Amino acid sequence: MKINTCIIISFLLFTTTCLSQVKTTAKHVDLMIVNAQILTMNKDKKVYDNGVIVIKGNKIIAIGNNTLTSSYKAKKTIDADGDIAMPGMINLHNHIPMIAFRGLGENGEKDRLFKFFFPLEKKMLSRNLIRIASRQAAMELALSGVTMVADMYYHEDEVAKSVAQVGIRGVLGETVMQFPVVDAPKPYGGFDYAKKYIAEWKNHPLITPAIAPHATYTVTPEWLLKSKSLAEKEDVPMLVHIAESAGEKQLISERINPIAKDKSIIQYLEDMGFLSDKLLAAHVIYLDKNDMKILKKYGVGISHNPKANLRAATGISPAWEMYKMKLDIGLGTDGPMSSNQMDIFNVMSYAASAARTTSKDGTRFTPYELVDMATMGGARALDMEDEIGSLEVGKKADIIIVDTDAVNTQPNYDPYATIAFAAYPQNVTHTIVDGKVIVENGELTTIDIQEHNKQWIPLTQKVAEFAKTLE
Ligand SMILES: [Zn+2]
Repeated sequence: MKINTCIIISFLLFTTTCLSQVKTTAKHVDLMIVNAQILTMNKDKKVYDNGVIVIKGNKIIAIGNNTLTSSYKAKKTIDADGDIAMPGMINLHNHIPMIAFRGLGENGEKDRLFKFFFPLEKKMLSRNLIRIASRQAAMELALSGVTMVADMYYHEDEVAKSVAQVGIRGVLGETVMQFPVVDAPKPYGGFDYAKKYIAEWKNHPLITPAIAPHATYTVTPEWLLKSKSLAEKEDVPMLVHIAESAGEKQLISERINPIAKDKSIIQYLEDMGFLSDKLLAAHVIYLDKNDMKILKKYGVGISHNPKANLRAATGISPAWEMYKMKLDIGLGTDGPMSSNQMDIFNVMSYAASAARTTSKDGTRFTPYELVDMATMGGARALDMEDEIGSLEVGKKADIIIVDTDAVNTQPNYDPYATIAFAAYPQNVTHTIVDGKVIVENGELTTIDIQEHNKQWIPLTQKVAEFAKTLE
């Protein structure tokens, strides 16, 4: 008996010593996601079926199998219960304040642009509307798993306030164009506005201020080049609509600058010295193989927006060819009046359908390639691939968790196919940006929605009243 008691006591002592050693050697961290099917989207396409992501501050410090849990003690642990954890999605093209006008002029109005867009903007836009509407849109983005949005509009400093308040990232471009607009009564007044705004918002942890010369047919070469100089001087991105419609070359020739018959829009921009790796070009539908080579040479980022383009019948971009040529191409929705929904899930589906139908080749864009465009593709287009776009040690902790036990996400044989073709935005249970949980169990943690609605509802009522006069 004595011997046995002794053995038991020794064993207990040994166990307590061992446990206290584990406790003392375990590293203290802020957040841990456990039991996740992790799509890292790294170069090796690594997937962990029962994985762990360890986060300290705003960065991922470890990623691996569930055995990692014993090495860390986290302030907060999220049990993913087998759900998919993946990089947050990047929406590369938007005009988020236009969410205030979403759903207007949808009944086949022939001149929607002049009958609805312009009068609405002229009458309704204000700093206040832009800030409140941007908050509404940023909430939708966060809830649908978008952790970074590229935007171009007016009073972009107000957009920045709301995007930062909701807690997602933004590359937010102040518009420069030849017409007087809400924040710039003189033509090209947005340029001076952009200078001030960039100085105010530079070095913000979530917001990258940018300049957005509106389009090739609304900005002269002189102002395109001035915008480029500012972007280079301040080291910020430049956002532009390029080659969006079939008639764009003629429009440039008539309104801005004659373009020779044998020259493309891309060549026109190259010749004037405008192309640069700072440029994020939206749409880019009308171009040939040679143009693609030019864009690749300069490292121009491209936002492919198939849903908005198909909806407006503006054309179908050769996005698959650009992706295969390894151009920096990602996905965007365009503004809420052009594609209505803010999420990237259904844009992946549109990208595949558009590429397959136009080529009559049903193999174009695999589910993995679509998820790559939605994450790393966006990061490459913004030249931020060293910081975001994949789940790797040292990168920013921008992570979403997608429920795989929902009726619509079952069965989950191929997680890339689940994400690209089956999941809805409502399947996002958690959104983490810069290490902070901003959506938890499908609820925003950063915004009091009731308080927000006290501003949002009256705003929509005012818009509705004015919209009646346009019918
Ligand atoms: Zn646009």
